[in-house]
Amino acid sequence: MRITLAELELHRVTASERYAPGALDYHGAEFRQTAPLQLDATAELLGAEIRIRGQLATCLEASCARCLGAVQIPVQSDFDLFYRPMKTIAVEEEIEIPTDELEIGFYSGDGIELADVATEQVILSVPMKVVCKTDCKGLCPVCRVNRNLVRCDCAPPQQESPFASLMEE
Ligand SMILES: [Zn+2]
Ligand SMILES: [Zn+2]
Repeated sequence: MRITLAELELHRVTASERYAPGALDYHGAEFRQTAPLQLDATAELLGAEIRIRGQLATCLEASCARCLGAVQIPVQSDFDLFYRPMKTIAVEEEIEIPTDELEIGFYSGDGIELADVATEQVILSVPMKVVCKTDCKGLCPVCRVNRNLVRCDCAPPQQESPFASLMEE
């Protein structure tokens, strides 16, 4: 669904959309959507800015960065976003955008694709490093077993500690 300026000039727009797994393009992100994504939002025009408020919910699956096991990531996100017309960048090029305005995005053309808003919010909600649990022991660097499940007796690899030589001094 596309939220257009033409429609926003007449009235605010309320949207309720459901995106099946695979319907949204996460630009090669390292997770996949495993449940339908439900998005409810209201859009309005504030001067030249489009404000979109609402919430979305879905479930993702990613691989643990340490043991490569599957990790379920429930996503529940409330958002309140402002989009400025792209052309104002050229005018305000010299102005640094303060960090507390990071919720401001830009739109070009006649409006905003709601699917793009959903995609962006989901990507932002995923942590930089996904782990299955904070004390995940990861894979053994020698025999590659999952050390959460199996105890192996491998000696740690020699180069394990970059501080080893310092400690000998
Ligand atoms: Zn893990
Ligand atoms: Zn091992």
